[in-house]
Amino acid sequence: MQPPLRVGIVGVGKIARDQHIPCIAAHPGFKLVAVASRHSCVAGVASYASLEQMLEGTEDLDAIAICTPPQAHYEAARAVLASGRHVLMEKPPCASLGQLDSLVRLAKVAGRTLYQTWHSQHARAVEPAARLLGQRKLRRVHITWKEDVRRWHPGQNWLWEPGGFGVFDPGMNALSILTRLVPEAIYPQAAQLFVPVNRGAPIAAEVVLRTDSGIGILASFDFRETGPQRWNIDLETDEGAVHLSAGGGHLTLGEQPVPADPGSLDAEYAAIYERFYDLIVRGESDVDTRPLQLVSDIFLVAKQIPVESFEF
Ligand code: NAP
Repeated sequence: MQPPLRVGIVGVGKIARDQHIPCIAAHPGFKLVAVASRHSCVAGVASYASLEQMLEGTEDLDAIAICTPPQAHYEAARAVLASGRHVLMEKPPCASLGQLDSLVRLAKVAGRTLYQTWHSQHARAVEPAARLLGQRKLRRVHITWKEDVRRWHPGQNWLWEPGGFGVFDPGMNALSILTRLVPEAIYPQAAQLFVPVNRGAPIAAEVVLRTDSGIGILASFDFRETGPQRWNIDLETDEGAVHLSAGGGHLTLGEQPVPADPGSLDAEYAAIYERFYDLIVRGESDVDTRPLQLVSDIFLVAKQIPVESFEF
């Protein structure tokens, strides 16, 4: 039995505490040995104020999980790859596709694993839905991704800064499921981005997309949903409706629920660490650029519409 791989985390915030730290602890192939965060420590492991200090101070680190907001991913991943460690990156990947391409090249040159995670692709009903769609003809798709930003992202001002993606921070989860379900090329035809006058990123968006073969996709994203929270993807097929809800956790065919385990972020992150371990053992990387490509294209074709200012 190999000794566990020694892991560090950079950016100890909500997702690091809720998922990465418990999932690393639960995986026999990994051991958390250090964290780097400007304002947080983790009991029982070496805590540093910066990534540079962590890389210099912990010689036998094997891998780093980057859990900062996306604006900081590129510089962090570059430094980690240059130091010869493997990288796991939270979504959204980077502030641009150019940065992500550059990291793919750097990982190849360094001979290290770069794993760009998309946790929603591991939601429990996504694989069953993908298998089902492989046997049917898809006709139309409707995405509804509406949540209350004050409830789920309190005080996260980075979301509203350039490179923070605004409502596309959660919205990219829907697009990561879409790209998993629909293998053919997808591109936006038109989009409206609703941007608060005091912020640098959209609070809501309406997007019309289509696939190469002409399948129409409508997507509505909104951070102002105070009623029932909705993370739904409705798919119309030649053999009836397929409904994914709970962020990909539940599948319904017509009115008939299909047996699937309930959606849970815990299961998604356990699968992520299993995949990371497997990639390192195989000496491979896994970087799916399509969700970021879609968001980039949406920003390119979109009309920006100013809306009332937003404060937490
Ligand atoms: P968060 O609570 O704001 O934590 C991020 C941490 O990164 C901060 O606590 C901060 O710690 C550090 N950081 C480094 N540079 C920063 C900067 N320029 N601005 C702000 N913080 C900076 O955010 P989060 O919810 O954990 O999300 C982090 C990433 O995980 C995002 O890309 C997000 O999309 C993704 N994610 C989040 C969730 C979720 O449920 N929250 C789910 C899935 C994925 P220090 O100040 O101590 O350095």
